[in-house]
Amino acid sequence: MLDYGDRINIKGLKVYAYHGCLEEERTKGQEFTLDITLHLNLTPAGITDNLEKTVNYSEACELAHEVFTKYAYNLIETAAEEVAAALLLKYSLLDRVDVEVFKPHAPIPLDFENVSVYITRARHTAYIAVGSNLGESEDTIKTAQEMLLKVEGNELLAESTLIETKPYGVTDQPDFINGLWKISTLLPPYDLLKKLNEIEHRLGRERVIHWGPRTIDLDIIYYDDLVIDTERLTIPHIDMANREFVLKPLAEVDPYVRHPITGLRAGEMLAKLQK
Ligand code: ATP
Ligand code: MG
Ligand code: MG
Repeated sequence: MLDYGDRINIKGLKVYAYHGCLEEERTKGQEFTLDITLHLNLTPAGITDNLEKTVNYSEACELAHEVFTKYAYNLIETAAEEVAAALLLKYSLLDRVDVEVFKPHAPIPLDFENVSVYITRARHTAYIAVGSNLGESEDTIKTAQEMLLKVEGNELLAESTLIETKPYGVTDQPDFINGLWKISTLLPPYDLLKKLNEIEHRLGRERVIHWGPRTIDLDIIYYDDLVIDTERLTIPHIDMANREFVLKPLAEVDPYVRHPITGLRAGEMLAKLQK
């Protein structure tokens, strides 16, 4: 997501809660303070003077307070995570949320001023290529999308039309139905991959032959501008530039989106491949 550089800062929100691993912390409780930074584009609010176009900071504080006091967690890490997630889920205007939880009375047997955890959580944009050549492909693709969008915070931003394509790599198999979804998600990359794998599994995907027939294949093409190259996950998808069945739907959804390494736009990559 684009960082506009605009922020709403909430500093030193005092909250009495029962987080901690010690018995005494959970019975007596203690005072925590929260610093929260909301990242969003403030121009629409600035030029219209309309509260609807921004996040009401008083409401945001109340939500943070409510979530922070709802349960007693062992860890302030968890409490911070819950606050960030609640804010991002409630306010679609937010691109990012930073939460710092201070625990000035933490059970540390030394003289100290404060201790805190700081996290930053964002809404991300991901492009998912989808393919199927076994069973009722269009129905399976639809079901897969519904399953993905059931995850809290996942939203469909755009989707391509479905196209019929010839098999790639292993050509002795039925034709494919391919498409692409552009989503916004709160899931970090590996959690998104895990969710996609779980959906594939639930829809009967079996990995018998690499590039072989499948009920459903869900591949992450882009995730923001992220470049990641590990055994489990490569983003951008390593072979995307060679695949018309990926580039065509991608260029339909977002012809100007750029490959974070080569800088090439989807439309340019497609034209290059079709030459
Ligand atoms: P290809 O990735 O060449 O299209 P495939 O989709 O048929 O082949 P799968 O069997 O679906 O391959 O996935 C094999 C492994 O690829 C997965 O277990 C996953 O960990 C890994 N992988 C690496 N990068 C990605 C990515 N960007 N999206 C999805 N899976 C990925
Ligand atoms: Mg694939
Ligand atoms: Mg795959």
